[in-house]
Amino acid sequence: MNEIPRFNRNPVVSPDSEAWRPSWTCYCCRDTGLVQDYLIRRIIPNYNAFEDKPVVCQRCGAYHRGNPVRDLNHDWRFKRDLCDRLDEISRRDWKTTRQQHFQHIKRIIDGTTGHPF
Ligand SMILES: [Zn+2]
Repeated sequence: MNEIPRFNRNPVVSPDSEAWRPSWTCYCCRDTGLVQDYLIRRIIPNYNAFEDKPVVCQRCGAYHRGNPVRDLNHDWRFKRDLCDRLDEISRRDWKTTRQQHFQHIKRIIDGTTGHPF
């Protein structure tokens, strides 16, 4: 029978660490070329991802890399300036999420909320 493995320590990283930064460059569409649903709902509150046209991000050009033709079954109303603003919002949201997640991990480590297992 094999022995159980041994690992090195794996310390928690600070929320300001590079390890917490997402790899995408455009926060509006996360480099997919399509605006994230939760951001679309800030502009189209009743947006239905199953019935409504996908919204093209016109900030980063990611959509055009895979799709040279302007497809009429996509929503092109989100112009560059709007996508810039959604990118800023998403960056702020991400920072908040990162800090909340770090605080959650810290509370588990500190034992202030009890161990989850
Ligand atoms: Zn984009």
